[in-house]
Amino acid sequence: MSTSALRSPLLRVRGLVKHFHLPRRSLFHAPDVVRAVDGVSFDIWRGKTLGLVGESGCGKTTTGRAILQLMRPTAGAVYFEGTDLCQLSDKDLRPFRKGIQIIFQDPYASLDPRVTIGTAIAEPLMIHKICQTKEEARERVQELMRRVGLNPYFINRYPHEFSGGQRQRIGIARALAVDPDFVVLDEPVSSLDVSIQAQILNLLQDLQAEMDLTYLFIAHDLRVVRHISDRIAVMYLGLIVELARGLDIYDAPLHPYTQALLSAVPWTDPRLARQHQRIILEGEVSSAANLPSGCRFHPRCPMAEDRCRVEAPALREVRTKHWVACHLV
Ligand code: SF4
Repeated sequence: MSTSALRSPLLRVRGLVKHFHLPRRSLFHAPDVVRAVDGVSFDIWRGKTLGLVGESGCGKTTTGRAILQLMRPTAGAVYFEGTDLCQLSDKDLRPFRKGIQIIFQDPYASLDPRVTIGTAIAEPLMIHKICQTKEEARERVQELMRRVGLNPYFINRYPHEFSGGQRQRIGIARALAVDPDFVVLDEPVSSLDVSIQAQILNLLQDLQAEMDLTYLFIAHDLRVVRHISDRIAVMYLGLIVELARGLDIYDAPLHPYTQALLSAVPWTDPRLARQHQRIILEGEVSSAANLPSGCRFHPRCPMAEDRCRVEAPALREVRTKHWVACHLV
């Protein structure tokens, strides 16, 4: 790989927008628009992980799907190794599909209960013509099973015969079967017990190092992405409100929303528990179909001023490699 390829990001997202139109309430009403993702930009370098964090409904999952073109963005660009995926037809996207994969929160929902896990893991190998024969595919599946910590002896078993953690390992094997460059991890450990979460996170880190994988790790819990993320982007109502190196987010968060999210984590590390005193946010998250004026966080922000109600703050680099969208920072 050339030095310039190493220096430029593998993935560049620019001004990504995804709006959904709700059905009209009546003939006389314009359809409501849900602004799920409303102009999101970031870069991810090869072999690195960006954690994308926020409460449910903030647009993080939609961002992941729009990047993968599983749902086409309303506007913006997604450059993968320099090619804007948003400009490609479904046919021209096909060669890129192999390089970009997704791992879901609930692998059980994405596995056909009537299909053995061997067949499920082999499917992408056959679709992308990576293996020419069934024997070749079987060998590759067994190798993948070993790699993700599953006993290859279970190749002919069905999804219901596995635990939640094992099923997530099957989902990982399936996504990695085609040797991708970039993987969206959409809440991959949220449905698992804490002890199993740590095992899956360690596995994902080991695989990243072995296979030079690049991750977008989506989570609602800042604790989960702490060890795996090089940088973290915090989303609120369709926008990134803070983006910085992981260390800076945990030790010196600048946005009031990030501070509140960190304070809600039950830290086992006493230093972090002392550092992030509980901040109770008043009110509910507003709807992406009826966004507040000015700063979208102002109805819940303990520091809101008059200006915040009318003027939307821009995302600015306030310290080296630390971007924040807040008038007071
Ligand atoms: Fe709070 Fe105002 Fe900053 Fe928004 S701009 S986060 S309302 S202080």
